[in-house]
Amino acid sequence: MTQPYDVLIAGGGLAGLCLARQLTREAPSLRVFLAEKHAHPVPEAAFKVGESSVEIGAHYFQRVLDLEPHLRQQQLEKLGLRYFFPADGNRRIESRFELGPSGFPPVPSFQLDRGRIENMLLRSNREAGVDVRDDCRIASFEFGAALHRLEIQSGGRIEIVEGRWLIDASGRRGLIRHQLGLTRPVGHLANACWFRFPHRLRVDDWSDDPRWKARVPSGERWLSTNHLMGVGYWVWLIPLGSGSTSVGIVVDATLHPFGRLNRFDRALDWLREFEPQCAEVVASHAPDLEDFLALRGFAYGCERVYSRDRWALVGEAGLFTDPFYSPGSDFIAMGNDYVVDLIRRERSGEDVSARVEQYNTTYLRLYDAFLRLYEGQYPIMGNAQVMTAKVAWDNACYWAITALLYFQRRYRQPEFIASIENLMRRFFVLHARMQQFLKAWNDIDTRDYGAGFSSVVTADWLRRLQAELGGPLLDDEALRARLHTNFALLEQFARELQAIARTEHGDRQELNRLLLPVETKGDEIDIEPLRVTHSGSRMDGIPNP
Ligand SMILES: Cc1cc2nc3c(=O)[nH]c(=O)nc-3n(C[C@H](O)[C@H](O)[C@H](O)COP(=O)(O)OP(=O)(O)OC[C@H]3O[C@@H](n4cnc5c(N)ncnc54)[C@H](O)[C@@H]3O)c2cc1C
Repeated sequence: MTQPYDVLIAGGGLAGLCLARQLTREAPSLRVFLAEKHAHPVPEAAFKVGESSVEIGAHYFQRVLDLEPHLRQQQLEKLGLRYFFPADGNRRIESRFELGPSGFPPVPSFQLDRGRIENMLLRSNREAGVDVRDDCRIASFEFGAALHRLEIQSGGRIEIVEGRWLIDASGRRGLIRHQLGLTRPVGHLANACWFRFPHRLRVDDWSDDPRWKARVPSGERWLSTNHLMGVGYWVWLIPLGSGSTSVGIVVDATLHPFGRLNRFDRALDWLREFEPQCAEVVASHAPDLEDFLALRGFAYGCERVYSRDRWALVGEAGLFTDPFYSPGSDFIAMGNDYVVDLIRRERSGEDVSARVEQYNTTYLRLYDAFLRLYEGQYPIMGNAQVMTAKVAWDNACYWAITALLYFQRRYRQPEFIASIENLMRRFFVLHARMQQFLKAWNDIDTRDYGAGFSSVVTADWLRRLQAELGGPLLDDEALRARLHTNFALLEQFARELQAIARTEHGDRQELNRLLLPVETKGDEIDIEPLRVTHSGSRMDGIPNP
């Protein structure tokens, strides 16, 4: 048996490897042990799912973990999120309403080849002094009053290691969550399948229409996370730095049965029915299929992720919502931040009991807020107008409050979070109410929408919200003022969206009961009126570029 470690990390996927790297940077004196089942190097491309990052996760990788050179040289910068809504039987991409940027957004995010990044992280952790064991299995664990214990099996050998903190980073295997019965079932029932090809699947090549091509002058739509949207589903197309393309189908389990997606030939048949243009492209690459996986009921919650008994769950070992908007790496970022802070403080002699509870509450509250984005909302995905409103709304909330708090490094300051409790409560209530409103709007809007083009970030105030994430750190007072201003913008935006729905559908009981009281705010809110444009479609409310 080796000398006890300060930290044992059980599992070396994205969450565990990032945690080890963060510990070597923020607490270099700690002795860290990490055990991972896969033998390294792992294959590139056809390795794991979870390849698209958004602002919080990207900022964590770039700035907190200092991975900017790797991201720029080995991975792909993303041309934002792009959505194509149903039209014309989904046979011609140019006839679908498109929501997506013309150029790169001001604050970057990246597509991640998971094999590539995990290989680099494991290697660099080892070089930085982490005791990394790959190709070994954690057979069991035991909590102890002073030290926790792992039993590791590798090539017929058994080794016992002990450490003060035990961090479960075993992904869906959820070693601690399962043993302690912490899984919290959720109402969001969704399934997915995904596969990869060793080629670029360039959506830019799907049409020769010059007008359609001109909308993204660089011809680089393929660098976006492209979403093909329909009632109860979305299909992703994600390019990887290694040259492959990842394709995934994500569905509401009640609208699209799992049995139609759980083998490649079935998934292809499903694509032929719902996304025939994509099916044709996929079929042409089928002989080179790299892998195929399907997962039923991917969402689950957790009763507790941090314990005063010095254990914690990070990444999917704790919980997971849904891949739409790619929040997986956001939760890794926020969770790892908390764990590193707790470990550092406890090692310096601080009683972290109260902090454990505060972090647990905030993290699980954020999880519940994210879950609301998805629960019961998949039917909206086929409605170009309501889903555009939803994407704009969800992004606005993320940039105005959730991501701003992360970029400003305040989640680790419980005193600051307590000082905005009232605002956060109002924010979560507004957010929940708007999700109900969007659902009700979709229920009464049964029209088809035609071709057209729009982008969330062409609305100046929305673009500014995104850009401001990259701004300098603010002192507490200035940040509180910014959050209050942003919340006022959200309230006004909510009213604007509700006004659009009312203009379209008149006085409907289903909508009226969800409307916000109209307040006059005078000139104090700096929000430009959302211009109404029609470009062959009825996309009111979001301006064209
Ligand atoms: C369909 C789908 C799409 C997704 N898309 C995205 C996306 O676009 N963007 C995003 O950010 N997130 C996405 N996610 C979420 C993403 O997959 C997770 O955030 C991420 O993979 C979690 O990383 P992790 O380290 O927790 O788990 P993993 O990467 O699974 O790592 C866990 C590690 O633990 C090891 N392990 C398990 N048991 C043992 C054991 N007994 N002994 C030793 N080692 C063990 C495993 O080998 C593994 O390497 C998606 C999820 C799903 C289901």
